[in-house]
Amino acid sequence: MSSVKSNAHLARELRRAYRLMFARFGHQNWWPGETPFEVCVGAILVQNTSWTNVGRAIVNLKAAQVLEPRALFALSETKLARLIRPAGYFNVKARRLRAFLRVLVAEFDASLPKLMAGETAAVRERLLAIHGIGPETADSLLLYAGGHHSFVIDAYTKRIFERHGWGQLKVKSVKGKKPEAEYEALKALCEKALDHKRGGAKLDYWQDYHAQLVLVGKHYCRPREPRCEQCPLKLLLPPS
Ligand code: SF4
Repeated sequence: MSSVKSNAHLARELRRAYRLMFARFGHQNWWPGETPFEVCVGAILVQNTSWTNVGRAIVNLKAAQVLEPRALFALSETKLARLIRPAGYFNVKARRLRAFLRVLVAEFDASLPKLMAGETAAVRERLLAIHGIGPETADSLLLYAGGHHSFVIDAYTKRIFERHGWGQLKVKSVKGKKPEAEYEALKALCEKALDHKRGGAKLDYWQDYHAQLVLVGKHYCRPREPRCEQCPLKLLLPPS
């Protein structure tokens, strides 16, 4: 009974958190990218870097007229690495991008809709099997490029949730078990608590929810000296 109560309480808090963030920032219309394919490329390039740097790499790819699956895959790894250099870790990212493109081009006829077709869980497994695609990238691709209901967890989400005590019992219960267990626990918790909309409305809600958390994490919930006084989530801080 108490767990039912705490789940309901958590759901109320998380939904209120969205209303507070939305009231401050407005709808974010995320993810940055003009096409679903550009979203995928950006999601792979953004690992361990900022969107500003990814933007520079994307500009290079557009200028070279290769921001299209077959054209990008036709580039040598060296040429690709040179073009995406501004995104950092460019050799590693060139390999990862090519691994994604190899599957997209060779197995799915260079068609993103074909790659993304099927049950969410099955498509997620398909993406996770590609070299260099971890849970956060897979969920970003699913949610922002594939139209799948798959909530994204990132470092900002983890920090905000930890500071507010949201779902900590669940996270603690899996800590130290498997590297991805904490990620999966938080993801499942969010998907359950934020499951009150359907279809396109739910997709938009989850897309914008993650975008709002990124804003809070970037501007207020910093690793050191969080700016709680100015933060829209201040009202939801647990009593100290
Ligand atoms: S900055 Fe403070 S109020 Fe804002 S999310 Fe972080 S802990 Fe919460």
